[in-house]
Amino acid sequence: MIILQILPFILEITNKIFGEKTAKFLLNFFSNKEKFFFTEDIYDFQEKKSMTRLVLLLPGKGCEWARKTGGCTMCALSKRSQEIGKNFSSKNLIALYKIAVNFTRKEKPTSLAIYNGGSFLNNNEIPLSAQLEIFRLVKESQSIRKIFIESRAEFIDSHKIKLLKKELGNKGLIVGIGLEAQNDKIRNEFIKKGLGRKKYEETIKLLKENGIITLSYVFLKPIYLTEKESIEEAIKTIKYAFLSGTDEIAIEVAFIQEGTLMEKLFKEKKYKLPWLWSAIEVIKKTYQLGPLHIGGFNDSPPPIAISSNCKICSLRIKEALQQYSQNNDIGLLQKLDCNCRRMWKEEVGVNL
Ligand code: SF4
Ligand SMILES: [Zn+2]
Repeated sequence: MIILQILPFILEITNKIFGEKTAKFLLNFFSNKEKFFFTEDIYDFQEKKSMTRLVLLLPGKGCEWARKTGGCTMCALSKRSQEIGKNFSSKNLIALYKIAVNFTRKEKPTSLAIYNGGSFLNNNEIPLSAQLEIFRLVKESQSIRKIFIESRAEFIDSHKIKLLKKELGNKGLIVGIGLEAQNDKIRNEFIKKGLGRKKYEETIKLLKENGIITLSYVFLKPIYLTEKESIEEAIKTIKYAFLSGTDEIAIEVAFIQEGTLMEKLFKEKKYKLPWLWSAIEVIKKTYQLGPLHIGGFNDSPPPIAISSNCKICSLRIKEALQQYSQNNDIGLLQKLDCNCRRMWKEEVGVNL
């Protein structure tokens, strides 16, 4: 796709001569209306206020763990990336970054989050040359002050960290790692994460020693757990992750994606998605421990089912969770109620 490499230049010229509307039309034409970047407001725990970030969905080669083992039991991300990502060279990926930055310049995003359906730091998924060049471009950016990437722990070592930090200069780096569950059986047999606690702890330590902010993903409700067990495991995992030194937590509320074991069990009625009340309970019990993000209501490929409450309150509760992720105000979640909360309480028991 040679055209992609000159596309940032073509779009920039089009924008200057014919305006942003025409440039956007051209971009939609070339990307087949596939949305690969957007901006959103999110609470920034370092700045202690809501900030605008640029989210870039980078089509890498797809998660190698998933290619080799079938992947985690709730995740279909990698399949999607493998389909799209095989056509993108290192130069193409850099071009996508440039297009995203050019189209969002007016919004002045202060951070960049890259999601590539796997590990950004795995050279077999995102070529090293693209990793380094994107970091170098972030260093030169006037508005972007930090970059967030995700990686499995096995791709993080001191050599790689030194390489990346050299390109990034004094811009900030946040690395997200999927811990999902603190219990070995739940993490490695139910979720099939393939991550040892020792490796997780060592990786967090290494990142922190190098001045990198760490974020750990915690999964709310893995397969084979009851509602109550899933709440308890999420709370224990958040405590364990903070004790291990993680700076931030992102709670991922389960949803169903096609082609996963979770989908199979869901269709056989052997798996039920968590209540939104459970997500709120986990936040209420852990928000004092450290920074918490909450997500998991949409993704790519689009879920076929997402977590909810009853028809009356689901939208309202989701909006409250969304607002919480924007301004970190726990007061928004404290007073929420609905008749269905009683059903949830009966299911999980009062002794949480
Ligand atoms: S959750 Fe992460 S590690 Fe697991 S299959 Fe999906 S992309 Fe790969
Ligand atoms: Zn309700």
